[in-house]
This record gives sequence, C-alpha cells and structure tokens, in this order.
Amino acid sequence: MTAKHNNVDAARVELLLSELRLPGVKAIWPKLAAVADKEGWPAARFLAALAEHEAADRGQRRIARHLAEARLPAGKSLDTFDFDTVPVISKAKVMALAAGDLWLKAGANLLLFGPPGSGKSHLSAALGLALVEQGWRVLFTRASDLVQRLQLARRELALEGAIAKLDRYDLLILDDITYVSKDQAETSVLFELIAARYEQRSMLITANQPFGEWGRVFPDQAMTLAAIDRLVHHATILEMNVESYRRKAAMERKRGPGRVPAFATAKETQGDDD
Ligand code: ADP
Ligand code: MG
Repeated sequence: MTAKHNNVDAARVELLLSELRLPGVKAIWPKLAAVADKEGWPAARFLAALAEHEAADRGQRRIARHLAEARLPAGKSLDTFDFDTVPVISKAKVMALAAGDLWLKAGANLLLFGPPGSGKSHLSAALGLALVEQGWRVLFTRASDLVQRLQLARRELALEGAIAKLDRYDLLILDDITYVSKDQAETSVLFELIAARYEQRSMLITANQPFGEWGRVFPDQAMTLAAIDRLVHHATILEMNVESYRRKAAMERKRGPGRVPAFATAKETQGDDD
C-alpha cells in the first residue's frame, strides 16, 4: 500500500481510525483505496463505499453482541423446530411473532404452555434467536435463576436498579416459571418485575401448567392474581398440548426403524419426565 498512498502516512491514518472507533473503515480502507486508485473512482464514491462498509460492519457487530448477551441455549432455531409434530401451533402465527414489531413495540407478552418435552424451551429460544437477528434485544433465562439474581439485588437494596437494567431487553424470556421454588416465592421480586414491565417491555413465559400452579410462585393469592392479570392483559397464549418430543424420540428409537410413529398417547404426557 505504501507505494500507492505515497502522500499519506498510513500508520497515522490507522491510528486516527482507531481513535475515532472506525474499525470497519480501518480494516477495509487499504484494499478499497487500491481498487479506487486502479479504477479511478471519484473521491465521493470512495468515501461512500467506506461509510457503507462501516455501517454494515457496525450492524453485524451489534447483532453479535446482542446474541452473546441473550444467553440463548445453543442449536434451537425455527429451522430446526418441526411444526408438524405440534399441529396445535400455527406456524404462520409463530412466524408473525418472530417478526416482533407488533407485539414487542406494544410491550405485549407471549405465554407458552405445555407438558415437559413439548418444545417450550426450544420454541422460545428459537423465537429469541429470530428476534435478535432482526435487531431486538433479548435475554433468555430460567425463571428461578433470574428470581435468585433479583433476590440478591433486593437484599443489597438494589432491586429497583436491577429491574431497571432489564429494561434494555425488548424481550425477557422466563423459562419454566413454575419451577421457581417455594422459598423464592416468599419474596415478591417476580411480581415487582412483572409490574415494572407491564405495557412497557415484553415477556415470554413458559410453564408446564396454565396458571393452575402459579400460586406457588408468588407470596399470596392476591399477588398471584395481580401478576396473571398484568401478564395476560396484552398476551398471546400458545398451548402446546402434544406428546413429549423427548419421549416420542426415545420410543421411536426403541421401536426401531421402519415403523410409523404413534400419535395417540397425547393425554398420557401430563407429569412426564423432565
Ligand atoms: P420443554 O421445554 O417443553 O420441556 P424442550 O423444548 O426442551 O421441551 O424440548 C425437548 C427436546 O425436544 C429438545 O431437545 C428440543 O429441541 C426437542 N424438541 C421438542 N419439540 C420439538 C419440535 N417440534 N421440533 C424439533 N425438536 C423438538
Ligand atoms: Mg423446558
């Protein structure tokens, strides 16, 4: 590059680009300058190409950052989700939710119910991934882990700040809300969180049971009702009442190849393994 840019101190340019935080330009400019010189680009075209490159690079890095912070379980995407095994769930509806705009802008919620193994964690992670790829910020967490974190913050008199920090996420995915343990339910941190996000920021909550067992998750019945009331006010509810995908896969392995899988045991799946 030195011969081509003989009037420019390349090292100085690189330093300035670092200081100006333009890593995209820094990476591409020698190559692009060589092309521009060779093809006789007008200066404005060179500048435009650099700017475009920086903008695209920045967008990619932002999404990579959001993907890392989202803590999504690996390998769970909409592509690998088999909608045929969950005929009660409309693929078109899920795809509309994966676009995000309507419900996330409104701070609406998504509740996913189904027995263990029905694909709740997979589908919620897959939705999270699709939304991150479109620029939304998401956090995936087991409900009990988040409650534990918030309880810690509460003991340090920093609950409000901890909940406010979660505002940065357009969508908070709380997996397995009914696995919040009895002692965790004695504090009201989960209710505080739900109340704070109400009509502002979306939540996706999964549970084995629709509301029946939620009384164990909050300190008392009044708070349980108040929490459910806020969650369902603007919510899409999807019930995945299908046979455990895990168990079906295990059964098919046991049966061996060449047999048609049985679909007739859907009602037996309550209280399945997990
Ligand atoms: P749940 O959270 O409801 O207990 P999971 O989402 O963990 O169930 O699903 C159990 C396993 O089966 C996971 O490995 C998941 O990827 C897989 N699985 C469940 N449903 C489907 C599906 N419809 N298509 C593909 N894989 C599925
Ligand atoms: Mg799960």
